[in-house]
Amino acid sequence: MRINAGAASIEIVEGDITRERVDAIVNAANESLLGGGGVDGAIHRAGGPAILEECRTLGGCKTGDAKITTGGRLLAHHVIHTVGPIYRDGTRGEAALLASCYRRSLAVAGDHALSSIAFPAISCGVYGYPIPDAAAIALRTVAEIAAGGGAVQRVRFLLFGPETFDAFAAAAENLRTT
Ligand code: ADP
Repeated sequence: MRINAGAASIEIVEGDITRERVDAIVNAANESLLGGGGVDGAIHRAGGPAILEECRTLGGCKTGDAKITTGGRLLAHHVIHTVGPIYRDGTRGEAALLASCYRRSLAVAGDHALSSIAFPAISCGVYGYPIPDAAAIALRTVAEIAAGGGAVQRVRFLLFGPETFDAFAAAAENLRTT
C-alpha cells in the first residue's frame, strides 16, 4: 500500500529490510551500536563486518538519535542506526523518543542527500512498544516531515510478519482518511 505526503510517497510493505534496494536502510540498534539481535543482527549478517567496524568508531548513539554508516555488502549503500526507546508504561517519554528516531533518521538522510529510505518497525521487537501505537507515531511523524518537503522522496516501511504489517497498514489508512 502507498500513500502520498507532499511530493513524497510512503509505502507499507511486508518483507525483509536487508534486501531493500534504497539509498539507506534504518537499523533499530541499541545505544552501544555494537550489534544485537532482531533486525540489527540481520543487518550486520547481511552487510558484513564493515558496518560494525564503522560503528565502533562512533561512540554509541543516544536513544532517539541516529547515526549513519556504510551499508557494506547490502544493496543499500548506507545504514542509518537509530535507537528506539525501551517501552515501559508509556509515561517515560517513549512516544517522543520514538518520533525522534524517525525525525533524526530522515534528517541524517537529508544531510547526506539521500532520496530513498526504508524503516523497520523501530522498538516493536524486544523493546516491546505496543505495535498499533508505534505504527501511528511512525506514520504520523514521517508523513508530517515528508509533507513539509525535504530531500527524502520515497519512504518505505519494511514490516516483518503480518501482525506488524497489518498495524502499519491500518495506521496508514487512518492517516489517509483523517
Ligand atoms: P527493537 O529492539 O527496536 O524492538 P527488534 O529488532 O527487536 O528491535 O525489532 C524491531 C522490528 O524489526 C520487529 O518488528 C521485528 O519483527 C523486525 N525485524 C526483525 N528482523 C527484520 C528484518 N530482517 N527486516 C525487517 N524487520 C525485521
